[in-house]
Amino acid sequence: MNNTADLIIIGGGVIGSSVAYNLLHDGYTGKILVFEKDKIYEFSSTPRSAGGIRQLYTTDINIQLSRFSLQVYKHFPEAMALDGEPAKIDFKQRGYLFLATEEMMPRLDRHVELQHKHGVPSQLLQKRELLDIIPELNIDDLAGGLYCAEDGYLDPYSVMQGYIRNAKRLGAEYIYQEVEAILCDQEEVKGVRLSDGSEYYAPIVLNCAGAWGSDLSEKMGLALPVVPLPRQVFQFDIEEPLKQYLPLTIDPTGVYFRHEGEKLIAGYSDDREPGFDFNWKRSFFVEQIWPVLAHRISNFEQAKIERGWSGLYDFNTADHNAILGKHPGKKGYYVAFGFSGHGMQQAPAVGKGLSELIRTGKYQTLDLSPLRVERFAENDLVIEDAIV
Ligand SMILES: Cc1cc2nc3c(=O)[nH]c(=O)nc-3n(C[C@H](O)[C@H](O)[C@H](O)COP(=O)(O)OP(=O)(O)OC[C@H]3O[C@@H](n4cnc5c(N)ncnc54)[C@H](O)[C@@H]3O)c2cc1C
Repeated sequence: MNNTADLIIIGGGVIGSSVAYNLLHDGYTGKILVFEKDKIYEFSSTPRSAGGIRQLYTTDINIQLSRFSLQVYKHFPEAMALDGEPAKIDFKQRGYLFLATEEMMPRLDRHVELQHKHGVPSQLLQKRELLDIIPELNIDDLAGGLYCAEDGYLDPYSVMQGYIRNAKRLGAEYIYQEVEAILCDQEEVKGVRLSDGSEYYAPIVLNCAGAWGSDLSEKMGLALPVVPLPRQVFQFDIEEPLKQYLPLTIDPTGVYFRHEGEKLIAGYSDDREPGFDFNWKRSFFVEQIWPVLAHRISNFEQAKIERGWSGLYDFNTADHNAILGKHPGKKGYYVAFGFSGHGMQQAPAVGKGLSELIRTGKYQTLDLSPLRVERFAENDLVIEDAIV
């Protein structure tokens, strides 16, 4: 029967496709079906991401995930080449920089200590050293910053396409239809029902549906604390170019900015109501982002906004981190969502980890169990101090 498989993945974004690719690359011989409802990925979070890749985290697990993934991204073009054509992802290792006020500095001391324990070459910068990185920076109200030169930003859509193409090459089958419900009985999952009523069966169903993931889980009575949270990004141009390309820079206010080609992009995580809202507002840039940009770099005073977009974080309201692995509520049900705005920098490591878990029953390369589903019931949350 062609409607049976060994593994069904719901969601063919960067996470679902990384898992599919890693499984097959690691020798999985089962049949994988990936269901994706948005064939052109118009509303998926991956292509709407800012593409920041950083190791500047404050928990062991997030540092480990990013550190592993960064190595993968460095070699992605060759490793994922197809027919000799490199899988270009435009990874610019121009650094990542958190700017800090006087009162923020002691916290950064603690962060850098943990990062160094994991081999991350992060550096605490003093006020004047910031000007070596961004000569035009207004440092009047800053005391220093936390910088990692190895980090940077990439093109999320190309990463996703690299995983999709290679997953397909290795045998994953993508079906561009919407999963309406996950089928299960009292004990275990059985497969999925599509919105056209057809059913597909597999003993393992992996929910990688991102911002839509918790709805599907809730329908089977296994709610997880994840909501869709709209986030806006804006592209703008300036008349007087900066002397150097920017690292992905986070202002103390939370406004972030970086180069995008010769242009710039900026974003800010404001207090928004959860929901599936894809509208972006020029007024949000003008009123909330632009004043911060203009204060920080005088070249930004003349910012000409060119376009904007809004995408969804799959936002974990309990501890703002991914939820990974087997769901204890139902045999055969696995999840990988809740990334809360840092899924791009975790996709390679998550793909590897779930490949190991599904193939061998345990994590091998990295222990991803701190991000297990059970942590909510056990009150063993992963509290990350550096969420953007
Ligand atoms: C504005 C913005 C900025 C961001 N910036 C960064 C950043 O700088 N760095 C970083 O690391 N991360 C960033 N992120 C987060 C990152 O983009 C996500 O964590 C990551 O893309 C999640 O990938 P995913 O595959 O889980 O989700 P998605 O790309 O959304 O893929 C999930 C897929 O599931 C499909 N789907 C959903 N329901 C169903 C269904 N019922 N049936 C079939 N298919 C279904 C959807 O169509 C979708 O394609 C940002 C996100 C946004 C929105």
